[in-house]
Formats: sequence, structure tokens, C-alpha cells
Amino acid sequence: MAARHSAQSGAAWDDDVVRRAPKVLLHDHLDGGLRPATMLELADACGYSGLPHSEPDALGRWFVDAANSGSLERYLETFGHTVAVMQTAESLHRIAAECAEDLAADGVVYAEIRYAPEQHLAAGLTLDEVVEATLAGFRAGERAAAAAGRRIRIGALLTAMRHQARSQEIAELAIRYRDHGVVGFDIAGAEAGFPPTRHLDAFEYLQRENFHFTIHAGEAFGLPSIWQAIQWCGADRLGHGVRIVDDIAGGRDGEPIKLGRLAAYVRDKRIPLEMCPSSNVQTGAAASIAAHPIGLLRDLQFRVTVNTDNRLLGGTTLSREFGLLVEEFGYGLIDIEWFTVNAMKSSFLPFDDRLLLINEVIKPGFAALRAEAAMSRVTGLG
Ligand SMILES: [Zn+2]
Repeated sequence: MAARHSAQSGAAWDDDVVRRAPKVLLHDHLDGGLRPATMLELADACGYSGLPHSEPDALGRWFVDAANSGSLERYLETFGHTVAVMQTAESLHRIAAECAEDLAADGVVYAEIRYAPEQHLAAGLTLDEVVEATLAGFRAGERAAAAAGRRIRIGALLTAMRHQARSQEIAELAIRYRDHGVVGFDIAGAEAGFPPTRHLDAFEYLQRENFHFTIHAGEAFGLPSIWQAIQWCGADRLGHGVRIVDDIAGGRDGEPIKLGRLAAYVRDKRIPLEMCPSSNVQTGAAASIAAHPIGLLRDLQFRVTVNTDNRLLGGTTLSREFGLLVEEFGYGLIDIEWFTVNAMKSSFLPFDDRLLLINEVIKPGFAALRAEAAMSRVTGLG
């Protein structure tokens, strides 16, 4: 157990173990994870002069500060800068490749990365060209990671913007590329005022095509949004889903915990919750990491997964997200493995591929780390 171990040998040991653990990431936005230095180079190349800083560290800090507003709407405004430098095939290819390499360096072995093709058309790309550039970039990043001795696989999720009216078109785009690396569909953007049922045609089309989708729901808006996403739209997973706790009562002073009908349904059906701890604190969906419902939901055995959302805006990595949970909830390797297996089970890959990653990569990887931890306790060299 890394958390207990930390008392003996310090947080650095934990950080290193968490980073080396084979992790799975289901909720990460391509346009929220750029390297600041890349953004500056691409801004130069495409003539975008709107970036608030010209030095990478200061630019990175600016994004984190701006994202700490406590409002989902203000948080979303920062994407104007990243999307501005993502309008050519070359820039999309580079950003996708760097995304794969950065995740592999963080110990991620499988990731589903999402982006909204409709936001990358300003310089004349077609929707298909956007998808082809990013898919080629992911493959290039996987190869570069493999050459550095790190194994990672990336699946793409195509997102439609919930305030726009292109979801049917994006759903059809996802189906066109389903055998070429696109594994699912999503809707994102400001939640209040834009319920998922606005895009019902797209979801019904995807269901008829036997395709998978997740819906951002229960982040800035409560139970009705989650209920619509599941019971009207048929979402396979929930992006965030934090507000499901509004349907769970009791738990204080020994009072029994009681699940409402929606929370019970989500748990009974094993509907995966793509939780993003530090992003949820940044947008005000949770007051703090300590107060994040992930602790309660993990105890109640909901199908919880841990994610980054936007690595640039959070100044974060998947290892850091787990590190925060280790600190606040005392989680150890066994918990991190539980979240990771949850995520792999919930991915949109074919069942055989999921099993293979669980049995041949994830379980042996965690077993090796546990053996190492046991050895270091015996020798006192942790
Ligand atoms: Zn998101």
C-alpha cells in the first residue's frame, strides 16, 4: 500500500510508483492538453498573436490560474487560445503525437482522447481532414513512445459541441472512422441550458449503429442532466457525473446511506463515471479534493474511474490526480489498480482487447510494483 508505505519512506517513493503503474485514461481533451512550448511555436507559425505570455512556464501558469475560476463557463473560455493554434493538419498531427508521448511518459498504457472536429475548420480543413490528421498523429506518438520503450494505445472520441447543431454530422463522422481509430462519441461544452436531449437524433443514430458514446453530464448541472443522458440518450458512460451524490442521502453520524432511484440505477447497471478530481475542483463541481464525492462513490462501489480532463488547464497528469487521491483518501496501489481495472473494463475497445490489456499489462504491472514494495519493506531500502 503506497499510502501506508509513504509514512516509512516518503512521498517521492509514492510518486515514482504511481508514475510507473500502468494506468488507463478515459477522459482527456486534446485541446486541453497542449505543451505550452508547442503552443508558442504553433502560434508563431500560424500568426496567432493572442497568447497572454511568450514564455512557456508563464503561459502554463496563466492557463492554470484562469482555469481556477470556479466557473465552468470561464474555464471553457481559455480554449479560445488552444483551439486558435489547432487549425492545420500539421499542428493537429503534432499535438496528437505529443499527447500520446506525454501520456506514455506518465505511465498511461491506454487512453481515449477526445476533441471536437467542428472547432478545427477555421483555416479550411474539412471534418475528415481533421480526423485523419489527429489519428495519424496518435499513431506517430504511439510509435515514438514504443521506440522509447513505452507501450501505449490511443483511441479517439469525437465530440460535438452541445451549444451547436452539428451533432448528427459529427456522429456520422465518427461512424465513418470507427474502423480507423475512432472508438466513441461525446458531447461537451456549457451544460446549463443545453441538455443532452437537444442531440437526441445523434444518439439514436449511434445506437442504431451499435456504437459507443459518453456524455458530459452532472458537472455544472445536476441530476436531470444525468437522468437525461442515461434514460433518454442511452449514454454508455458519464463524463464527470459528480452530481450523482445529490441522489445519495445519509451517511452522517452513523446514519444509514440511502441511494435514490437514479443513483441506484447508475450503480446497478455499472455505468462508468469519468471523474476528474482537480478539474472538478477548478470548475466548482467539488469544493476540494477532500470533499470530492469520489471517496464516497468508491466506498459504495460505483464504477468510478480517475481522469485528467485537461492537463494544461489543471497543470496535471494522471499520476498527479492519483497522487492527490493517495494524499487525501490514503489510497494505495490496490485502490489505484481497482480504478485502473474499472477504467479498462469501461473503455470502448472490443472486449477481447480490454481483457488482454487487463491480464497482460495492468495486472502484471501492479503485481510487480507490489512485489517491489514488499521487497523494499523487507530490506528497508524503500
Ligand atoms: Zn471534459
